[in-house]
Amino acid sequence: MTATPQRTALEWEYSPAPEATDHIRLAERYDLFVGGTQRETEAYEPTINPATEEPLTQIAQASEADVDAAVTAAREALPGWQALPALERGKYVFRIARLIQERARELAIVESLDGGKPIRESRDVDIPLAAAHFFYYAGWADKLGYGTAGRTVEPMGVVGQIVPWNFPLLMAAWKLAPALACGNTAILKPAETTPLTALLLAEIVQEADLPAGVVNIIPGDGTAGAALVRHPGIDKIAFTGSTEVGKDIQAATAGRDVGLTLELGGKSANIVFDDAAIDQAVEGIVNGIFFNQGHVCCAGSRLLLQESVAEEVVEKLWRRMGKLRVGDPLDKNTDVGAINSAAQLQRIEALVDAGEREGATRRTVSCALPERGFWFAPTMFTDVAPAHRIAVDEIFGPVVSVLTFRTQAEAIEKANASAYGLAAGIWTDKGSRALAVARALKAGTIWQNTYNQFDPTSPFGGYKESGFGREGGASGLRPYVRVRE
Ligand code: NDP
Repeated sequence: MTATPQRTALEWEYSPAPEATDHIRLAERYDLFVGGTQRETEAYEPTINPATEEPLTQIAQASEADVDAAVTAAREALPGWQALPALERGKYVFRIARLIQERARELAIVESLDGGKPIRESRDVDIPLAAAHFFYYAGWADKLGYGTAGRTVEPMGVVGQIVPWNFPLLMAAWKLAPALACGNTAILKPAETTPLTALLLAEIVQEADLPAGVVNIIPGDGTAGAALVRHPGIDKIAFTGSTEVGKDIQAATAGRDVGLTLELGGKSANIVFDDAAIDQAVEGIVNGIFFNQGHVCCAGSRLLLQESVAEEVVEKLWRRMGKLRVGDPLDKNTDVGAINSAAQLQRIEALVDAGEREGATRRTVSCALPERGFWFAPTMFTDVAPAHRIAVDEIFGPVVSVLTFRTQAEAIEKANASAYGLAAGIWTDKGSRALAVARALKAGTIWQNTYNQFDPTSPFGGYKESGFGREGGASGLRPYVRVRE
C-alpha cells in the first residue's frame, strides 16, 4: 500500500504592491496652528520617515510663549463657541468627519510615512475610525442631557490634549471630537515623532470653517506638553502616553481645579482556554500583539495559555509568525511595518535583552529587514516567569511573552497580577466561562474570541496604572462637561 503524499501548504510569492505617493504634496515646513491661522515660531525640527530615516519636512516646535498664545486663543474663542446652538456645533464636528473621509487616502499615506505603520492599517483602521469618532460625537452635540442621565451640563472650558505617536490622527479624533461636541475649545499637542496628520487636521479644521481659536494645534516636544499641563488658563487635561509622564501630569495638576483623564500603558493578558477554537485564537493572538508593531497600549502582550493546549498554540503561533510580512509600510501586503523611532527601538531591544538574560527562551522570526530604518522582527518568549521584566513591563513592540496556567482561578490570578489594567482577551467556547472570567478581571476592555476591536460607541480606559477616565461612547462625554447638581 502506498502512503498518501502529505499535502503541502500553498506558499504564495507576493509581488511588491506599493501605495503610490506621487499625489502627496507635503509643504517644506509646517507652522503651528493658533487662533485659526498658521503661526511661525523660532525653532523647527525635521520629522523623519522611520522606514527610511529620510526627513519628510520641517515642523514648528512650540515654545512656552506659543503655548500661552494657544491657550489665550482658545480662551477668547470659548464664549462664542459655547453660545452657538448645539445643533450648529454638531454640524461643524460632522463637517470635520466628512473632510477626513474626503482626504482619507492622503491621510493614510502620510500616517504611514510619518509613523511607520502598514498602509493596510492606516487605510482600513486609523483613518476610518478617526472619521467615525467625529461622526459619532457630532450626533451627541445636541443630546448631551441624554448622555449624562438627564443632568444639566456645561462645557469644562479650555482643554489641553496631549497625544502619543502610535495612533496619531485617531488619538487626536478620540480627544477633539467629544471636546468640541460638548462645547469646549481645545489645544492639541501631537507627539514629536508623528505631528504630520495633526497638521493636516489643522487644514481640515480651517476648511470646515470652524471659528478661529476653537481648535489649536501645537507640535513640539515634551516641554511643550509640560508647559500646556502647567498653564493656569487650562480647565482640563486629557493625556494618552506613558505611565511615567502620566504620573508627572497628575502631580502637576494636583490641587488645581483642572479636570484630568489619563490613558496610560498596559500589559494586557490574552487568555486561551483549552476549549477555545485554536486556529481562530492564533489569528487573534497575532492581531493582538503584532498589529501596529505592538505599539498599542492595549496590546495582548502577555499570552496566558492553558497547559493542555500550550504546546499546540505555541507551535501554531510560531508557524503563523513565520508568514508575517515585515517591511515597507507603504506596501499593501505588509503586516508589520517600521518601529516608530530609534529611541523606541532601543527600548524594545533593552527589554528583549533583559528577557534573554533572565532565562526566558527567545524565538525571533528570521526575515530580511531593510538596511535603513528602524525594524524589529516578530518575537516570542516562552519559559517566561511572572516576575520576568518581559512579563511585567510594557515593551510596546512586536514581542509576545507566553505564560501558562492550569485552572480558571490561576488564569484570573495571573492576568490580574499586573500594575496595569487596560484590556484583556478571553478565548473559550463557553459563554458562561467568558462572562465569569470577564467579571473577575481588572481591565477596562475585555474581548471575547477577538482582540483589538474598536468602535466609537464603546468606552475605553483603564484600571490601576493604566489610568482613569473613559474615552468613547456616552461615557466619553463625561470628562468634557461639568454637571450642575
Ligand atoms: P510619552 O508619554 O513620553 O509621550 C506621550 C506624549 O506626551 C507625547 O506627545 C510627548 O511629547 C508628551 N510628553 C512627554 N513628556 C511630557 C511631559 N513631561 N508633560 C506633558 N507631556 C509630555 O511616551 P514616549 O513616546 O516617551 O514612549 C515611552 C513609552 O511609553 C513607550 O515605550 C510605551 O511603553 C509607552 N507609551 C504608551 C502609550 C499608550 O498609548 N498608552 C503611547 C505612547 C507610549 P513628545 O512626543 O515630544 O515626547
